[in-house]
Amino acid sequence: MGGQREHVRVVVVGAGFGGLGAAVKLRREGVTDFVVLERADALGGTWRDNSYPGCACDVPSHLYSFSFAPNPDWPRTFSGQEHIWDYLERVADTFGLRPHLRFGHEVRSIRWDDEALRWEVETSRQEFTADVVVGATGPLSDPRIPEIPGLDTFPGKVFHSARWDHDYDLTGKRVAVIGTGASAIQIVPNIQRTAGRLTLFQRTPPWVLPRMDRKITAAERWLHATVPATTKLRRGLLWGIRELQVSAFTKRPNELGLIEVLAKRNMARSIKDPQTRRKLTPDYRIGCKRILLSSDYYPALAQPNVDLVAAGLKEIRGTTLVASDGTETEADAVIFSTGFHVTDMPFADRVKGRNGTTLAEAWAGGMEALRGASAAGFPNFLTIIGPNTGLGNSSMILMIESQLNYLGDFMRQLDTLGGTGVALDARREAVDRWNVRVQERMKRTVWNTGGCTSWYLDANGRNTTVWPGTTSEFRKVTRHVDLGEYEVLRAATRSPLKEEVR
Ligand code: NAP
Repeated sequence: MGGQREHVRVVVVGAGFGGLGAAVKLRREGVTDFVVLERADALGGTWRDNSYPGCACDVPSHLYSFSFAPNPDWPRTFSGQEHIWDYLERVADTFGLRPHLRFGHEVRSIRWDDEALRWEVETSRQEFTADVVVGATGPLSDPRIPEIPGLDTFPGKVFHSARWDHDYDLTGKRVAVIGTGASAIQIVPNIQRTAGRLTLFQRTPPWVLPRMDRKITAAERWLHATVPATTKLRRGLLWGIRELQVSAFTKRPNELGLIEVLAKRNMARSIKDPQTRRKLTPDYRIGCKRILLSSDYYPALAQPNVDLVAAGLKEIRGTTLVASDGTETEADAVIFSTGFHVTDMPFADRVKGRNGTTLAEAWAGGMEALRGASAAGFPNFLTIIGPNTGLGNSSMILMIESQLNYLGDFMRQLDTLGGTGVALDARREAVDRWNVRVQERMKRTVWNTGGCTSWYLDANGRNTTVWPGTTSEFRKVTRHVDLGEYEVLRAATRSPLKEEVR
């Protein structure tokens, strides 16, 4: 395959929700000359990679799905990983995406050719050139394992929650789970019975509310299948409730105090020991970190084979895990549920824009992109789930769809300007203006004022991940590409005289 070079109108990188959504959008816009490059051998993104026991979505599935691909058959209010993965497979079939998918194509570099006005894309299999690149690699795709001194000397089993080793049998083992984020609180109750001893290393306690999960009845499913408007209605209600919550997160964090009472009650129902309750009670405003939903986390922690270490993992000496408070724990296996490279995604190192600057270099002071999509100096490069497009309380699919609308209009604008040989580069001033506005609004939000650190913030303490508004507002500001915010680049045409001389 080496040496082959194929030109396509669009390269989409990643075949998760974002990349598949982009593929559907492109086809609907009449663009069929595109490929979706995927490093793995299957589609699904985060819903393929995360297969840990108990992996499920904490956003109801009727909202955590594409509006253009409703599924009347969701089996539970909060679907498990396998159902969501299966849904994405069906989206690929329904919308004819299979011919575009190229598996086992890891993108190694994407380089802008400022003369030809196109991208050169090098993958592990073959090279492409493309007029437009859509980066849909997602913020939760590269697992983060902290640098723990002595980790390489640990003789037992080590893996990350997003790379679960299903061949390793936890039965009777001394298992350490590191971290207490959304992944860990789903893992702990699901391995507690199997493990001999389970030790949870908690650096910062999360706020946890009950998860109202139940089977969706056959009657409900029948109704959704027979009267599609009811699926829409259900989605609308789920969406509306979350829209109404936004102002508390973004403008009036003190209102969230009421929910802390509910979360404390939820804990007290299962954790009877006051000292353990103290250890599990956060000292920051609820919502500052993602609010977690679980009805079996606290009950699992109350089991006699579970130990809670209220400190981070600091060091490993042989089979001994040393916490930052000096607690020592013997373990056979260590499961890192320590999240992902969100604000320092490795993919950004591989994208080289105008002047040879990488996206990582351009974002050294913090990620920023016009309307979450376009970084200055990276013409015809659009990010799905770009900077400041994340959500604290609703479905990311809503934000992805807004970004897809923006992509659709971007393609239309390019066509209007002449198609191939034209590129749009976000103006520095426009990116700055957008970003100043976003950061100004961020100042009042619970994510910045709630007294916690989280993966929403980058190394400089700047919130470059969350959108400080409602999803409908984001939808509105991404409906159209404003050409005034872009510099229009045109490829130099060869002089007709030269052509004739040849
Ligand atoms: P995460 O939220 O980034 O949590 C990482 C955890 O690791 C934190 O508790 C962190 O503690 C801890 N940690 C890091 N280094 C540590 C150390 N040396 N010792 C002890 N603890 C350490 O990662 P995640 O749980 O994988 O979740 C990532 C995101 O994925 C979520 O926020 C969510 O958006 C998504 N997710 C969603 C679902 C869902 O149901 N939809 C499920 C799973 C994940 P600190 O808090 O002190 O930093």
